Amino acid sequence: MHDRKPALVTGGAGFLGSFLCERLLKDGHDVICVDNYFTGSRDNIHHLLDHPRFELIRHDVTFPLYLEVDEIYNLACPASPVHYQYDPVQTVKTNVHGAINMLGLAKRTGARIFQASTSEVYGDPAVHPQTEDYRGSVNPTGPRACYDEGKRCAETLFFDYHRQYGVDIRVARIFNTYGPRMHPNDGRVVSNFIVQALRNEPITIFGDGSQTRSFCYVDDLIEGFVRLMAAPDDVTGPVNLGNPGEFEVRQLAEMVVDMTGSRSPIVYKPLPVDDPTRRRPDITRASQQLGWQPTVPLHEGLGKTIAYFDQKLSSTVVDMQWPAGRVREPVLSIMGNGSYMLRGAMGVDGARRPT
Ligand code: NAD
Ligand code: UDP
Repeated sequence: MHDRKPALVTGGAGFLGSFLCERLLKDGHDVICVDNYFTGSRDNIHHLLDHPRFELIRHDVTFPLYLEVDEIYNLACPASPVHYQYDPVQTVKTNVHGAINMLGLAKRTGARIFQASTSEVYGDPAVHPQTEDYRGSVNPTGPRACYDEGKRCAETLFFDYHRQYGVDIRVARIFNTYGPRMHPNDGRVVSNFIVQALRNEPITIFGDGSQTRSFCYVDDLIEGFVRLMAAPDDVTGPVNLGNPGEFEVRQLAEMVVDMTGSRSPIVYKPLPVDDPTRRRPDITRASQQLGWQPTVPLHEGLGKTIAYFDQKLSSTVVDMQWPAGRVREPVLSIMGNGSYMLRGAMGVDGARRPT
């Protein structure tokens, strides 16, 4: 038990980061949350602001940060394809410069450092389910590459800092995770379908909906983070963290319509370029090394997430805009080349980078 240990969470005002901050405070840590609010929001951590062991810093991880910490969780990075393709160069910088800055901080302070990597390092996988020793099939020049290759380079940096400087690293490869506090306009499939269903608007399936994903509820994932961080010194990862239950996107749409009692029709839109056809984690390593496996089935997790969005959408003021306060009527389009485009996404001051 690491009692009252200062832990830094980058991306702490995001979906996963906010749950992690909450969990670390509950476990007795002092927590420093760093975020530039690109996709996160103060709303996500509003309930923590008065906590005596919680501190918040507005900062972009592409710039160096000097703090004294014992643990670092590096989560800063937009995770939704819509968000990370909005400013792909900044996505690469966040992944690469952000990793270098946080690894430098870990090297100086001797902190253990966790990297939120992703199943996207496997690209459109030829091996199924995906094991950690599969090296992946990523298109290095496509619209997803800023994220996929950025995360792959971050993993490289983590392992090089470990080999070269002895930095104590933990690398988790996270598979699709969902839950309350996802941004309603985030563009990811679970939040999209739930928001569309609750509003009786068309459910947008990309492609024919036969592509698969494995959906992990946020509480299960955070438990995996904490276990990985507390594991013995030789457990560096990479470790897959995800729920091995595999569903077609079409099945997910049907479940959401059914569970919300929605009148939404299902509409089919073009499949984005390089959209992986199937994805499912092999979690043998997490189970053996961390004694971890998810416990929340999709139906149960969806129920909690639907209840959250139902409450959020029916409350008087809902900020559906992304980036917050800067977008006029953002509309997601898939371009002819299959990349995403947010029409109207230019900031009111013309700034491309909402930091
Ligand atoms: P999110 O977009 O809700 O959170 C990301 C947070 O990082 C936001 O608060 C954002 O403002 C912040 N951020 C972005 N760029 C930053 C920068 N340059 N400096 C400081 N802060 C910055 O996404 P999430 O789902 O919470 O994802 C968190 C992490 O987990 C990301 O690294 C993501 O790649 C990884 N991950 C998530 C999933 C998932 O399914 N949720 C899957 C795989 C990997
Ligand atoms: N998707 C969809 N409709 C949507 C949003 C996403 O059919 O409104 C599909 C998307 O094409 C992908 C899957 O759902 O096949 C998961 O997409 P998401 O953006 O959540 O994450 P990804 O796993 O692609 O990073």
